[in-house]
Amino acid sequence: MTEQKQALFTIFGATGDLAKRKLYPSLFRLFKKGELADNFAVIGTARRPWTNEYYREVVLESIKDLMNSKTEAENFASHFYYQSHDVSDSSHYVNLKDLGEKLRKQYKTAGNQVFFLAMAPQFFGTIAEHLKSENILTGEGFERIVIEKPFGTSYDTAKSLNDSLVKVFSEEQIFRIDHYLGKEMIQNIFAIRFGNLIFDNLWNRDFIDNIQITFAERLGVEERGGYYDHSGALRDMVQNHTLQLLSLLAMDKPATFTKDAIRAEKIKVFEQLHNPTDDELKKFFIRGQYHSGTIEGKKDISYRSEPNVDPESTTETYASGAFFVDSDRFRGVPFFFRTGKRLTQKGTMVNVVFKQTDSIFGHSLQPNVLTIYIQPNEGFSLSINGKEVGEKFSIAPISFDYETDATATGASPEPYEKLIFDVLNNDSTNYSHWHEVRASWQLIDRIEKLWAENGAPLYEYKSGSMGPTASDDLLADYGAEWVWKPEPKN
Ligand code: NAD
Repeated sequence: MTEQKQALFTIFGATGDLAKRKLYPSLFRLFKKGELADNFAVIGTARRPWTNEYYREVVLESIKDLMNSKTEAENFASHFYYQSHDVSDSSHYVNLKDLGEKLRKQYKTAGNQVFFLAMAPQFFGTIAEHLKSENILTGEGFERIVIEKPFGTSYDTAKSLNDSLVKVFSEEQIFRIDHYLGKEMIQNIFAIRFGNLIFDNLWNRDFIDNIQITFAERLGVEERGGYYDHSGALRDMVQNHTLQLLSLLAMDKPATFTKDAIRAEKIKVFEQLHNPTDDELKKFFIRGQYHSGTIEGKKDISYRSEPNVDPESTTETYASGAFFVDSDRFRGVPFFFRTGKRLTQKGTMVNVVFKQTDSIFGHSLQPNVLTIYIQPNEGFSLSINGKEVGEKFSIAPISFDYETDATATGASPEPYEKLIFDVLNNDSTNYSHWHEVRASWQLIDRIEKLWAENGAPLYEYKSGSMGPTASDDLLADYGAEWVWKPEPKN
């Protein structure tokens, strides 16, 4: 049993999808593990006029698949209080403060407060300002604010959001969520890279040919057409998740395994991201949009026919390209990425492709590849060349696999569980620092601008394929190919 935490959580957007699907179940998992016990309370706020009783019913419903006993679940839900609240109305914060003070005493939360902003980003600045002006922040215990994605839609919007937050909170108090960073296998990158002499020593431009990052989705935009049509794959998946993952793969070895040392190395990567010339920009980044196709006998409509999508939309549902990091470790090594909807198969993974050894066998050999499976399966595999059994001497790649279906075993914590645990422990390793967000938007803005001005083709790709062939051509220019080539299922 670990040390129990004391904190008052205030969840803005308590009636929303994120709160119900992720936050309540994750808090319950921490409760079951004893991380949260007696000294915590949750204030849920949103506009709807719910009662505490109704709110607790909603919380119980959201954790019904996780509960061992009704008593345990009801004990957990009894810590939840609802306060109807419009975030733009100053007078409502008075009620919030009164309730907070009462719960602080009742649950002995030591004045520690975590604010979770599970609502649309345009409200973040207003909430932060009111927390200060209405004296909800007292400085008594720790006070941390957790911000959902998206953190801006461009550098300018991200900066103005950040400016409004830093008027109230210091960088150390701001936890910008990137839920991929809470995933087990993303954290395993530290273990693989820095816990193994073979990788620790080979992880550089002398031995690595290229690194491939794939975030593939089977689904289309579903009900999110209205949101997605204004976002696109680049903003939705690349600015945040892809570049965060890249920074973990490209960073230098931190002096110690501490949040400050890791952060410093990650920030260096963002600051060393290669700023492409205009010609490179056109060459390095590829966009696509799905049209109709058949997956497993089922016909899928084109993106432009999806509900709430402009029938002439030029929003990309696929983005691919090559990032470079101008560091001594990785200068010139392409970090290829691709992300898209309606692709052949769902899968998030990293393939680290090593350079080929000089062959004495009269023919070239397959490169060694380290694959890190992130979702839906978790694990890794390493392919090495070995002799095939038999009297002849022929060489073939052999794969060492460690793959576990984490959802089946239930062994992996939910990303939000891990991330809330980290907030309580003041560990921001798995959150994005402003300097990272800033640098990523500055680069992404340049690609967005080129695409908005129609400076690069928008390729169509068939639903159920792995995206436009232009992406394969980009890799071929570097003498590479995508390692993961799932078979289309028509
Ligand atoms: P949602 O629309 O389901 O919920 C929004 C919540 O905000 C509701 O509780 C609503 O009552 C409340 N709200 C809206 N206006 C308000 C006001 N003026 N005053 C008080 N409360 C108000 O949204 P969601 O899907 O839960 O997403 C919330 C945030 O999380 C968004 O920023 C979204 O981008 C982000 N996010 C969501 C998911 C997800 O899985 N749902 C995943 C990643 C990021």
